[in-house]
Amino acid sequence: MYKKLIIAIYVSSICFSMDIYSGGRLTKHQRNMDVKSYSINLSVDTDNKAISGFVDISFNIKDTTKTTIEVDLIESYSVEKVLLNNNSIRFNHRNNIIRIKTATLEPLNIIRIFYNGKPPAASNPPWDGGFTWETDSLGYPWVGISCQTNGAHIWFPCIEHPSDEADSAEIIITVDKPLVVGANGLLIDSTSTNNQTTWHWKTQNTISPYNINFTIGRFNVVEKTLPLYEQTLLQYFVLPEHEPGSDYIIKEAEKYLHFYESVFGPYPWSNEKFGMIETPYWGMEHQTIIAYGNNYKVREPGYDFLLLHEMGHEWWGNFITVHDWADFWIHEGITIYAEALFLEETFGKKAYHEFFQNTVRGKISNKKPIVPKRNATSFNVGGLDVYYKGAMMLHMLRYLEGKDVVLKILTQLLYSKKELPNNHTSTNEFIDIVNRMTGKDYHWFFNVYLRSKRLPKLITKNRDGKKSIYWDNQSFKMPIEIKTSKGEIIKHQPKKNKKVDAKEIDPNNWILYRD
Ligand SMILES: [Zn+2]
Repeated sequence: MYKKLIIAIYVSSICFSMDIYSGGRLTKHQRNMDVKSYSINLSVDTDNKAISGFVDISFNIKDTTKTTIEVDLIESYSVEKVLLNNNSIRFNHRNNIIRIKTATLEPLNIIRIFYNGKPPAASNPPWDGGFTWETDSLGYPWVGISCQTNGAHIWFPCIEHPSDEADSAEIIITVDKPLVVGANGLLIDSTSTNNQTTWHWKTQNTISPYNINFTIGRFNVVEKTLPLYEQTLLQYFVLPEHEPGSDYIIKEAEKYLHFYESVFGPYPWSNEKFGMIETPYWGMEHQTIIAYGNNYKVREPGYDFLLLHEMGHEWWGNFITVHDWADFWIHEGITIYAEALFLEETFGKKAYHEFFQNTVRGKISNKKPIVPKRNATSFNVGGLDVYYKGAMMLHMLRYLEGKDVVLKILTQLLYSKKELPNNHTSTNEFIDIVNRMTGKDYHWFFNVYLRSKRLPKLITKNRDGKKSIYWDNQSFKMPIEIKTSKGEIIKHQPKKNKKVDAKEIDPNNWILYRD
């Protein structure tokens, strides 16, 4: 009985988390909708770990002859009332979807959803979703939300899909005094009653649902205007106990921002801010308000990995965004590659190569292709390969084409006109840019490293004191570096009947392969 109970609990918790995901396939009714803005108005009761309020969603309807609306919100909330264009309307809330059938819809509509309940508590944030209800060392509530994997519908009604970015979002949160709320964009105002303060934040930049976020704490706010490409406000929301580290972390942030601007162009959100907020979990790339829970930890050879990584997402993930989680490696793989470029710039070429040799390779598992089938959910791209194999792929592209070409390709990817609106992109668009800019057809390379989990196998046979070296897959055209017995390094095109004086193969560890 005991054992059965344990299994039942285990199975139900797995089902909960796998059921609640971001992305996947939009319903046909959701495909007919295009969200323009979210306005989230919530009171957060930190004593009872509950939220209540309403969310306005303004959305376009593509085909107004179709009149069903579907909005994602997990069922653990109770939906009290729904207004469509100011009129109360019937709805049902099943299978984590609020469904409304109406007689007519306008091209532009506003739906207001009143709801309340206890949000799921995150058991392993930021990887699984929910609220983290902490207290700081003085006993004040300290509350964070993470939802990249499980989706934003774990805390507010939305179209939970990376393809539907809102043009703007308001986050209006009421909490007890003296708590402070930090969120995306700019603070419009804060208004107080005797016991409570309402913090009104607004972003005018396009934003993915999972990036809409707030954190509550007894924060002090340290501000500085940074001389970036454009003057940019930096805001750091810091708990008083960690404020002595704020000078240090702001200096680091400034250094990393200058680095990213020099490689990838202007910081995308200078019209609002660069924000960091202390979170009771490790981190997340929430646009203009990076979750920073790293407590100034320094990684060898001397940088704050978490800050550097989440900041990199302001370009890779927030400014440019994938339409389908199948292409998630563009967010994570390129951000990890950017880390390698930072190491090279700051600590030299040796640090760049050591990063791939000592950090990247060991994290690649090759259990599944890093680009799965289309309409992927966040769960289809779990694991570290989207990060590290993605970065390794770019490292190999640099081996083939050189650093300048790779940087030009990445800049093209960021700024070229896309097929889709809101700077949404895809793996295919990336491959098209590579092929166009190099004048070559690199499908043989991308098919192996992006679309297959199987690594190429290098076969080596000794022949008359020399070696015959070739790939098991004849269509794989990767040249390989060879160190000869004289110590020369040459680039060799593997071929079955070609003998070569090879003392060492791939001495600089450029290639990911099996032998
Ligand atoms: Zn990341």
